[in-house]
Order: sequence, then C-alpha cells, then structure tokens
Amino acid sequence: MKALKFHGAWDLTLTDLLDLEPVGDDDVVVEVRYCGICGTDLGIVTGSYPVAVSGVTLGHEATGLVAATGPGVTSVRVGDRVVIDPTPYCGRCRMCQTGRINHCVNKHGTESGVSYDGAFADRYRTTSAFVHPVPDHIPLRAAALTEPLSCVISGVRKIRPPSLAANTYVFGAGPLGLLYAWALSLTGLTPAVVECSAARLAFAHDRLPARAGCYPSLAEARARHFNDPQASLDVVVDTTSVLLEPLLPELACGGTFLSIGLKRHLASIDPMLIADRSLSVIGSIDSTHGSFAEALHLITSGLVPAHRLVSHVMPLADYRKGFEALGCELDHRRMTPSREASCKVLLTPDAAGNTQ
Ligand SMILES: [Zn+2]
Ligand SMILES: [Zn+2]
Repeated sequence: MKALKFHGAWDLTLTDLLDLEPVGDDDVVVEVRYCGICGTDLGIVTGSYPVAVSGVTLGHEATGLVAATGPGVTSVRVGDRVVIDPTPYCGRCRMCQTGRINHCVNKHGTESGVSYDGAFADRYRTTSAFVHPVPDHIPLRAAALTEPLSCVISGVRKIRPPSLAANTYVFGAGPLGLLYAWALSLTGLTPAVVECSAARLAFAHDRLPARAGCYPSLAEARARHFNDPQASLDVVVDTTSVLLEPLLPELACGGTFLSIGLKRHLASIDPMLIADRSLSVIGSIDSTHGSFAEALHLITSGLVPAHRLVSHVMPLADYRKGFEALGCELDHRRMTPSREASCKVLLTPDAAGNTQ
C-alpha cells in the first residue's frame, strides 16, 4: 500500500508499505476512499504547527470501506461504508472524565496524522469505536467533512451569544469558515463571512446558508450584511490566527472572540479591556463529547450540504497538486495566497475507482 509520509517541514514522500491488517481483537482496517487536506496538515507541512512526529502518515479526515476486522468486532462488517473519527481518547484520564476528551492526556501516540499513522494512504487501522457507518445515500466524499464539522460543533458549543440578534462574523472562507457559517446559522445566528481572497470569495458565494453572506472586508460586511457601517462586533470567529490583536479593541461589550486557527502568531492584548468590557476570548480544537455523531447527523440529514464545500478531488499520487491548490507549494517550500477557488481538497488513493 501507498502512504504519504511526513519526515519534517516541507519533506513528504509517497512511500510503499506492507498492507495494514488487523492486529488486535477490536481492530478495524479501512480501505480509504477520500481524505481531506486540513489546515492542520498545512501547518504541519510548513512547520508553523510543529506537532507531528517524523515518519508518521499524514491525513485525518477520511472515509472508506471496511477492508478487514479483528475477531471481536461486531459493529461493522467488511464492505461497510464508514467515516473515521481520527482522535481516539482513553475515557479514563482526568481530562476525559471531566468532559474534555479533546485534551485526553493519553492521546499522544493515537492522534491520526500527528502521532499515529493517518489516512493519506490506501489503508488505515483503528478500533471499532472510531468508525461510524455512513448511510448509503450519503456520498463518501461528503462524509469526509464529518471530522472538520465535528471540530466546528465543539467551537459553536462554546459560544454563548448574548442574543440571536448578535452581529456574528466569521473571518476566513476556507472549509472551517464555511462550516462555521452553517453551524452558527443552525443555532439561529446570521453570520457574515469575511474573506480577502477573491477566488475563495467566489467559491463561497453560493455555498452559504440563506441568511449568511460573504464579503471582501469587514467594512463591507458591516455595511451590506448588517446595514450599519458601525455594526458592532458581538461574536467573532477567527480562522486565520492573526486577528485577535486588531479586533479585540473593536469587540462590543459582552462580545466573544473565538480563535480556532493553528498558526503561531504573537499578539498583544490589554487584559483591562477584557474585564472592563466583559469580553470572552476563547479557543477550541478537535471533537468533544458527541460532536462527531452530531456532525454526521447534520451531514446525513442534509442540514449541512458538505458535498458542496468540496472544491477538488485529486489522486493521492498527485498530492503536491492538492497542497498547491491550497497555496502550499511543496516544491518551492512556500505558502502563497491561494489563487484557485479552493475549499475542501480531497485526496483519493484509487482515482479511477472512486465515484461515490
Ligand atoms: Zn482537520
Ligand atoms: Zn483520556
């Protein structure tokens, strides 16, 4: 089997390995069909989010078919269509037992595509609790967005808007930005998405929920979405990592700033402002209790049209082109603003056979 191996910043190889097979009683081996490139992968590859161990197979947003199971597995069978939950947790540590499974202290060595071999590969091995059946009517390429949507649900759960009339902004129209727009809309908010890349703006334009909008600047979002050039910043979701410093002083009293970008970026902020103006500065990462099943429900019920956020499907062998579509130029070792109308880019190990 082929697997996309990470050796260090900018250093990836598509490597031949022996096929993964079940080892433990409860193991499930999945033949991967689609695996999405995530901002986390870009951070790992460019060195700006240095969390992955050298030699690991990247990729954590995947769907496929069950290829083999250990003797103790009863919940899925060979051939079943499944989506992979890539972040196992132990359920026994203090973090897990106090509602913070996303910070399980025993996660090291089990996080797919970071410290455990991920799914940019023909095969991926996990245990039965971490594969979820995908209904036949849902394309596997759509279900590949379950994990990012699950992370978005974790963040949305932490936002406590003062009112459903709260002026809500999402900065960045990448996959997470658009999924935030959908998930926030389902809670009753009416977000404005702000995106400076013309190509991304064009892609996002008709892929947003009915009462959301997409604008090239904050000024335009205020004027056109909220009909007020001075519209307050009540709820801000920053997918870019760089907006805390400029936007915190502009946040409305009682406002919330949710930071979910994983780019290292130092900011200086005034704690007095946070107290005096009752601001909430919060962060969110990964799945929390039940968010994965909730995300899969939103996709299978059609409440979030995940398939419409897929901009590219490319063979795993062409991974360089896939990363390039997101502005990550492996050959030149540089990130550039994406010139393509890219959103979720999926890599598929078997280009010819995959139409689902
Ligand atoms: Zn991801
Ligand atoms: Zn734990």
